[in-house]
Amino acid sequence: MKNVPTRMCMICRQHFLKPELIRIVKDRDGKIFIDDTKKADGRGAYVCSNPECHARLVKTKALNKSFKTNVDDSVYEALKNSLNN
Ligand SMILES: [Zn+2]
Repeated sequence: MKNVPTRMCMICRQHFLKPELIRIVKDRDGKIFIDDTKKADGRGAYVCSNPECHARLVKTKALNKSFKTNVDDSVYEALKNSLNN
C-alpha cells in the first residue's frame, strides 16, 4: 500500500486524504482564509467534507480556538458556501 499523506479533520478527528479536505490557513500576517491551493504558507487547519463537520465548525466557531484568535465571520460564511458547490 502506498504511503499517501493524510490530514485530520479538526472536528471528527478522522484522517482523510488531503484532496478530500478543506484547508483553512492562518498566514504570517495573521490573515485567515480558505486555502484552495492547499499550499499556502502558515498554520493550517483541516475540515472534511462531511456537512455535519462544517455545521459544527461554524456553530462552535472551532477555528477561533484552533488559531487562538477571533476569526472573522466572513471565513465561516465562506466555509458554509463552500459546501454548496
Ligand atoms: Zn470531519
